[in-house]
Amino acid sequence: MAEEGSGHVRNKQVMFKDYITGFPEESDMYVNTDNTVILKLPEDSNGILLKNLYLSVDPYLRLLMQKFNTSGVFSPFTPNTPLRGYGVAKILESRDSKFKTGDLVWGAVGWEEYTVSTNTEGFFKIEHTDVPLSYYTGILGMPGMTAYSGFFELCSPKKGEYVFVSSASGAVGQLVGQFAKSIGCYVVGSAGSEEKVNLLKNKLGFDEAFNYKEEPDLNVALKRYFPEGIDIYFDNVGGKMLDAVLLNMKFLGRIALCGMVSQYNNLERPEGVHNLISGIFKALRIEGLQVYRYYHLYPNFLEFILPLIHEGKIAYVEDIVEGLESGPAALAGLLRGRNVGKQVIVVARE
Ligand code: NAP
Repeated sequence: MAEEGSGHVRNKQVMFKDYITGFPEESDMYVNTDNTVILKLPEDSNGILLKNLYLSVDPYLRLLMQKFNTSGVFSPFTPNTPLRGYGVAKILESRDSKFKTGDLVWGAVGWEEYTVSTNTEGFFKIEHTDVPLSYYTGILGMPGMTAYSGFFELCSPKKGEYVFVSSASGAVGQLVGQFAKSIGCYVVGSAGSEEKVNLLKNKLGFDEAFNYKEEPDLNVALKRYFPEGIDIYFDNVGGKMLDAVLLNMKFLGRIALCGMVSQYNNLERPEGVHNLISGIFKALRIEGLQVYRYYHLYPNFLEFILPLIHEGKIAYVEDIVEGLESGPAALAGLLRGRNVGKQVIVVARE
């Protein structure tokens, strides 16, 4: 407990319990209310002290809940330490001249009220505060950069092309679809409920959308929506959908391998992709995406996206839950498709 006058304050945390297989459960995490922190950087620190405001709930966090070879891209969580991920925070103290007390940033934080970061690498200063700060967990943060770099850099899109997006109503998918529409593509999205399908068609401007859970044969479904084939597939799910898409790609099509959320709970026995030979027959370009390789484009991205937000030319759907206590259910729910739009946790409102 925090002792008055000791300089300690409570630092509530969402802790990772132990490595798992299968779907994450709320009980794989727990909230620790006994932890405290001193709100002062150690003398020898070159880092920053952060008050966390919003946390981003992302599918890749599931990959950190087990020891799995990610070729050094991610390190797994350590049991009985706080989860960590992207978040929006306010700087309480800084030993780096790039940042000062009171600055708002987004970057890697713990799932906790306060984070002491030993360095400032990977933190982006938030310069535009005339938008909701939570947007920096999504449309103006890592998922936004994922949609922007994945679609415009990897997919080489052209006006009039046929674009398919899976997990289309999520943080990344909803933006990819709207980017594609903005340059005159025909866009179809798949999602896991009628509510999400309606959102895609009625709010997010997709030309068509379907519920993949209601389709007994994904190949047949794709032929219905793309009788002439698909030019660009933005893959957020992998697995059976990727396999069916390969049969429906057009000659010289492009596939961005952004995510494989359908496989994240089954990493020991991932589903095979059987139709890869289409890649040869159709001369496809299939490329994996790592968003951080494109972070140097962040200023260009802001120049592109901020006017769209200010002029109301892009819709953005968030699913916001209050308090660190909501964290375990939010992450477990994300891997079951319970989120509608970008899943965000409010830790504190400034
Ligand atoms: P999201 O779409 O907002 O949320 C995850 C969604 O995944 C769920 O709502 C659910 O939607 C869907 N899902 C869950 N289990 C599924 C399954 N078995 N089969 C198909 N869909 C399933 O997440 P996001 O943040 O936008 O991320 C989308 C993808 O991009 C993820 O694969 C993520 O890992 C990836 N990503 C990659 C990078 C990169 O650098 N490569 C960066 C960011 C994100 P439904 O209800 O529609 O099933």
